[in-house]
Amino acid sequence: MTTITLIKGDGIGPEITDAAVKIISAAGVDIDWDIQTAGADVIEKEGVPLPDRVIESVKKNKVALKSPVTTPIGKGFRSVNVQLRKDLDLYANLRPCCNLPGVKTRYDNVDIVVVRENTEDLYAGIERQVDEDTAESIKIITREASERIAQFAFDYAVKNNRKLVHVVTKANICKLSDGLFLESARKIAQKYPQIQFKEILVDNCCMQLVQNPNQFDVLLLPNLYGDIVSDLCAGLIGGLGVAQGANIGKEYAVFEPVHGSAPDIAGQNKANPTAILMSAIEMLNFIGEKSAAERIKKAIFDTLNSDIKTFDLGGSYTCTEFTDEIISRL
Ligand code: ATP
Repeated sequence: MTTITLIKGDGIGPEITDAAVKIISAAGVDIDWDIQTAGADVIEKEGVPLPDRVIESVKKNKVALKSPVTTPIGKGFRSVNVQLRKDLDLYANLRPCCNLPGVKTRYDNVDIVVVRENTEDLYAGIERQVDEDTAESIKIITREASERIAQFAFDYAVKNNRKLVHVVTKANICKLSDGLFLESARKIAQKYPQIQFKEILVDNCCMQLVQNPNQFDVLLLPNLYGDIVSDLCAGLIGGLGVAQGANIGKEYAVFEPVHGSAPDIAGQNKANPTAILMSAIEMLNFIGEKSAAERIKKAIFDTLNSDIKTFDLGGSYTCTEFTDEIISRL
């Protein structure tokens, strides 16, 4: 039996993790879930939103499935997501965005992989109040982190038969920081003559993505642009309810949906569990449970193709009804 850390999160987190656990179990995969809580509710009991036990659990088990965790704004705590990624050195945030069968969207054949640097940039959390009317956030870009994420993107492209990597920056304005990211990508690109390499500015990239997403294959971005552009890409394939993600480092991997904790629909049984399920499928592939991963994916696709959908996709199925429909097709 494999032990995997399960971070249940808050908002819609518990609802969608329950769905994932039920479906993985129904697919016959024997997982011993090491359940860990984090986020706003934990602060009252343990004083911090991300207690050490959570990090220790992932270090021990190497792999985690995580649902969204909200860090209360302005309470002096670092974001749980940012801290987790930093403490475990999960330097690559991988967000594949591919059309799902049965989910009607503006464009067909969208198949984009967003590779987002996950440890620095404006998310390094270095901020200060200069005076009452001025605040300052520092954008950190290092050669080491930029080269290793570029290496990750090109290795991913080779392994997954991708043809084109776009590096996305604002190097015309942030000449030093984004300039260094761009320079690092150019250097790594030279080692991969079989992969086409293009450079694009982030504003133009956003416009091109909504006009003609089919021209893109792998996108390589620093942390902040990666966060924003991956939500844009989620919008191209049906929204946050279907967008999967993974945080990968040399030693550990944490699989999680792109979306946040969606407080507006929390506790209403309305959440779409597809995003966490697609993330869990990648997790199963990662731990070698490839046949179960394939079966779950087919059951999700069959369900969506039968026009069984949650509210975010224009359907009327609750999270639990949608989950049961998937299980009945496994
Ligand atoms: P964060 O900054 O934490 O990523 P966010 O600002 O991107 O969060 P979300 O919590 O992801 O916000 O929610 C954005 C919108 O998408 C909300 O209207 C929410 O209800 C919807 N949404 C997000 N996830 C899902 C889901 N799994 N199913 C249905 N709707 C969702």
